[in-house]
Amino acid sequence: MIQLHILHAGYCTCPEHIAIRGGSRTHIRFPAMFALIEHPRHGAMLFDTGYSYRFFDATSKLPYSLYRHATPVTLTEADLAVNQLLTFNLRPRDISRVFISHFHADHVAALTDFDRARSVYLPHAFDSVRFTRGLSAVRRAYLPSLIPSDFDSRAAPVDMSRPVHLPPEYAPFTRGYDLLGDESILAVELPGHAHGQMGIFVRDDSQTYFFVADAAWQGRSIRENRLPHLITNLLFPDPKAYRETLGALHSFHQLHPSVKVIPSHCESTLRECVAPPRAESIRP
Ligand SMILES: [Zn+2]
Repeated sequence: MIQLHILHAGYCTCPEHIAIRGGSRTHIRFPAMFALIEHPRHGAMLFDTGYSYRFFDATSKLPYSLYRHATPVTLTEADLAVNQLLTFNLRPRDISRVFISHFHADHVAALTDFDRARSVYLPHAFDSVRFTRGLSAVRRAYLPSLIPSDFDSRAAPVDMSRPVHLPPEYAPFTRGYDLLGDESILAVELPGHAHGQMGIFVRDDSQTYFFVADAAWQGRSIRENRLPHLITNLLFPDPKAYRETLGALHSFHQLHPSVKVIPSHCESTLRECVAPPRAESIRP
């Protein structure tokens, strides 16, 4: 049976009303969630990586420094994914796969640390950013230097020509991808926020989790089908798809309220899920 640990590595801040319409002007924390998935046969795997110190190197100069100014990041040594994994007796080389929701810097900043892991992602997620540099990359929240130099040799893009039909317990999602071939981790496309954004369903011995990355920034957005600020239409590659995806997540939540839906940056959602020692660091 899978063991799941929901963690985060660092956080940035942003006014709440940008993240969700009707929110306050107060700056709130956006923890950079990552999950440790321990699978009985496939070993230890991650969903995303959170921030790493490489984010600061990658944003030290213009135009990439614009990214850091837009979302100021707080990160300590103890926050780093590699250091948190030590508490599970795991070294970086023990990680067999990293499931990448999308290639925004706060999701892939520690990728280079996991030098034996295969990267699993929807192909168009990387195709859409692979050759972008400079301002065009910053506009896509993509920092090319975060991608390991041997990325291609360890890349394992999802074969989208082999979708699986999802049973009613995943409605309204009907089309997924069986990432390990044993139905333990099912991926779905969550378009709108970034090209090829991937969400995954994972079940441990007591609970089904649906990691939805940045398809919503707040759990409340999903519960109330509440969009972020209009300005985000300028940031998202496909605002219409974003609205449709959020609507689908809202329907999913209504149909299956027992499933824990986890947006990557919702502090209150993560606080409910994070193991007690780590919860200390995200308490306001
Ligand atoms: Zn993102």
